[in-house]
Amino acid sequence: MLQIKDIHKQYKTGDIIQNALDGVSLSFRESEFVAILGSSGSGKTTLLNIIGGLDRYDSGDLIIDGVSTKKYKDRDWDTYRNHSIGFVFQSYNLITHQSVLANVELALTLSGVSRAKRKEHAAQMLEKVGLGDQLHKKPNQLSGGQMQRVAIARALANNPKILLADEPTGALDTNTGIQVMELLKEVAKDRLVVMVTHNPDLAQQYATRIVRLQDGQLISDSNPLSEQEGGE
Ligand code: ADP
Ligand code: MG
Repeated sequence: MLQIKDIHKQYKTGDIIQNALDGVSLSFRESEFVAILGSSGSGKTTLLNIIGGLDRYDSGDLIIDGVSTKKYKDRDWDTYRNHSIGFVFQSYNLITHQSVLANVELALTLSGVSRAKRKEHAAQMLEKVGLGDQLHKKPNQLSGGQMQRVAIARALANNPKILLADEPTGALDTNTGIQVMELLKEVAKDRLVVMVTHNPDLAQQYATRIVRLQDGQLISDSNPLSEQEGGE
């Protein structure tokens, strides 16, 4: 189980101090689809990046399977990110000069696995997101929704326990956005998916839990963990 406890995070730019997160606590289930809502600047991306080990908290704790990360070294964070986390971004972040297949294959860090096996696995992942017939295209030959599905296949390539998505439908039209949401909902059946979104309608329709942030603080949680589940 993943827990964050009283996380604080400030950014300093010159003389200005910005409280990005101001005492946020949350426990997540092994498998659920959590949507984080909040206006621009409320701390959503900061929260996601801290959960994913892309950014560090100033104080508080991130507890992974019961173990505090307070003493984590860079190497521990690297291991956590590489083995437990998949990331999906609004802007896809695909390598434009590589094929769809190569984009997914490059994410595979399975050691001691042959090139042929990696290719096969990458093709399977793309099959699962409905792109089995697009393997040899370049990302710029795909639609936005297809690019986002490549990014999701890539994020899932190493079978992470947690998938984090920062406004994954932010650049997509409504219908394509819905397809991506359907896919994330499917993915969340057997892992934790935490998605930041601006869109309360999509969150209502697809997520199993909605958490709202305002000025770096948690202002609501539609489905907190019960005491039996290890909640507060
Ligand atoms: P959201 O994703 O909800 O729009 P962010 O988490 O990106 O919000 O930002 C929260 C606050 O922290 C904002 O006021 C933002 O300007 C500030 N902030 C975020 N990242 C940085 C950074 N790298 N340097 C300085 N300020 C930052
Ligand atoms: Mg953001």
